[in-house]
Amino acid sequence: MIRANDPKLTSWVEVPEGSDFPIQNLPFGIYKIEGQQPRVCTAIGEHIADLYVLAEHGFFKDLDIDQEVFEQDYLNDFMALGKAKTSAVRNRLSEILDNDLEEWDASELASFFLKPQKDVEMLLPVKVGDYTDFYSSREHATNVGTMFRDPENALLPNWLHLPVGYHGRASSIVVSGTPIQRPVGQQKPNDADAPVFGPSRLLDFELEMGFVIGQPTQLGQSISTAEAEDYIFGMVVFNDWSARDIQKWEYVPLGPFLAKSFASTISPWIVTMDALDPFRTDGPEQDPEVLPYLKYEGQKNYDIHLEVGIQGENMKAPHIVCRSNFKYMYWNMSQQLAHHTVNGCNVNVGDICASGTISGPTPDSYGSMLEISWRGSKPVAMPDGSERKFIQDGDTVTMRAHCEKDGVRIGFGDTSGKILPARNTNS
Ligand code: CA
Repeated sequence: MIRANDPKLTSWVEVPEGSDFPIQNLPFGIYKIEGQQPRVCTAIGEHIADLYVLAEHGFFKDLDIDQEVFEQDYLNDFMALGKAKTSAVRNRLSEILDNDLEEWDASELASFFLKPQKDVEMLLPVKVGDYTDFYSSREHATNVGTMFRDPENALLPNWLHLPVGYHGRASSIVVSGTPIQRPVGQQKPNDADAPVFGPSRLLDFELEMGFVIGQPTQLGQSISTAEAEDYIFGMVVFNDWSARDIQKWEYVPLGPFLAKSFASTISPWIVTMDALDPFRTDGPEQDPEVLPYLKYEGQKNYDIHLEVGIQGENMKAPHIVCRSNFKYMYWNMSQQLAHHTVNGCNVNVGDICASGTISGPTPDSYGSMLEISWRGSKPVAMPDGSERKFIQDGDTVTMRAHCEKDGVRIGFGDTSGKILPARNTNS
């Protein structure tokens, strides 16, 4: 076991019950306060710890890391140090924050390197190079195939043989808290002869998780399933906002375009694969047998509880509309990365691969309003008396994710976005 993952560890920094950020997590992010450059930080309880200040005081001296790597707009340079160093930094943070280790009088330094999370702004943690979106939940693909094609043949013939994916828009990935403007575009209602133009009326979320690439490959190089996790720095929660009406009209034959490219929201914290290691679990059995390059050994799925809440402007708290789990993924991240690179496609530090909508087996675990409301035929009753088939202006959609085992609970923080009314409504 990685020492920093020991369930017995406690921190001298207060960690409230149910916090996403006990000492066993130590995710990485980028924070900003007035009058200071953005810096790398970790989260502990309701505080952030500033890694630049810790470096300044020599805490990472023996790790041979340039202090400047901790004062950057993004985590890319830090991730590019490689897992040997980034894991060592996480382990060192664990030692600094550990209740029982008194190698340093860290509490004296606390006022310099700890800041309340409520006082800082969390920024987009990575400069995203390329963004790839997979479609790897069997339940989601089956639901969508059932609704839009044929319940008898819900999965297309390729689906059980390869992790289907497409290249998405990297530049419109935003951090949690960024308002999302309702997109406009072409739609073709079922009873219309010609397309119409206007605000999307079927705006949806997609509950996904993304993995962040921490090591690059050269063009022509492939990554095997056995090597894949060496290239994955960590994971984020990923809301792949989708305009279903725009999507339905535009997606043939090349796939989604403007229905997806207007925005995707990620959590500000990247939880490392080190921290997620105790939560490995078996994936679904794959039948038919996959081709040799997609075979894998060991546990490559992760038990990550997921939930989505919608809060209308008149509501005091989010109403949970979905509880799912990342472990349902039919294709795991190692298979996705092996498939992505099998043709020699390179990857770069900061690339993000998203899972595709993560739906579970039961209606309360479906990962999009499209499925939850079954194309609008089953509206969701909200606590304020209103109902939702899709997302309305003023709604805030919040996704949360956490792992729990042996008394340890680690999470990703909130991934939220509020929907603003459309602009550019004139065609
Ligand atoms: Ca998606």
